Amino acid sequence: MQTQGHGTVALVPTMGALHEGHLALVRAAKRICNTVVVSIFVNPLQFGPNEDFDRYPRMLKEDVTSLEREGVGIVFAPRVDDIYPQGSANTFVEVGGVGERLDGKSRPGHFRGVATIVAKLFHIVGPDVALFGQKDAAQVAVLKSMVRDLNFSLKLVVCPTVRENDGLALSSRNRYLTAQERAQATALYRSLCAARDAAKRGVADPAELRRTMLQIVEEQPSVAVEYAEVVDPNTLLPVHDLAAGALLAIAAHVGKTRLIDNLLIENLSLENVSLDLPLSPSSAGEASCES
Ligand code: AMP
Repeated sequence: MQTQGHGTVALVPTMGALHEGHLALVRAAKRICNTVVVSIFVNPLQFGPNEDFDRYPRMLKEDVTSLEREGVGIVFAPRVDDIYPQGSANTFVEVGGVGERLDGKSRPGHFRGVATIVAKLFHIVGPDVALFGQKDAAQVAVLKSMVRDLNFSLKLVVCPTVRENDGLALSSRNRYLTAQERAQATALYRSLCAARDAAKRGVADPAELRRTMLQIVEEQPSVAVEYAEVVDPNTLLPVHDLAAGALLAIAAHVGKTRLIDNLLIENLSLENVSLDLPLSPSSAGEASCES
């Protein structure tokens, strides 16, 4: 792909089935670069054998329409055999350490697939800036590590998580949820908020924050927790001292659907820390952790 001569170029990598979370990245990209490239590619390499690659929502036509409405210059939507002409990759990007923690631990090979496709997209598109969502906090840590370790010359920009009015983080996978599961899925965000509130009240023991999270999600019969952790946002290693800030991260199966969410506690001395964007100003009270 030839993006030279387009001024500064921003890349927003996605798997499509676009929602307001993706569009927030696109709008941020438009504010900082002359040309925005959105890639849409459901990457088989990052799905495990029993995961949802086959049924992952694909709606290219609708996605292109919403990107046109946003004024996006280039949509890059390759086929699987354009990206992996030999059927799969022979060369992989493996991010050690951070890539083996949180989702990297529960989904072996996942971050190898993510890092490999993102490195390929960086080479194909040649962006000055690439934008990712805080919603996938472990992915952000892995890609920061890859960019640093492999000397990619571009800037990563991380945008806040966009949520439904009741706090559920937008995800292309939310459409899998039944009405009952959808209601129970709000427990993920509520558990993060409860832990963050506890930390702000002075609870300094990460184990107690984990218990707070677990207590809330385990009340929901359709929710099976995969992890609930208090970690350093860069290394994804458990945090022992909360003073410097931490990432509260949770992954759970709601029915058959795997969802993730997280909140950053950056500085506990700040009043009303608000890092996540509710969908509309009128919903701010409901989605806010302070409510
Ligand atoms: P995906 O299509 O799920 O691979 O996501 C593509 C990009 O959109 C990733 O950088 C995600 O972190 C980001 N993203 C997904 N959901 C949200 C959300 N609710 N808020 C902000 N960014 C998001």
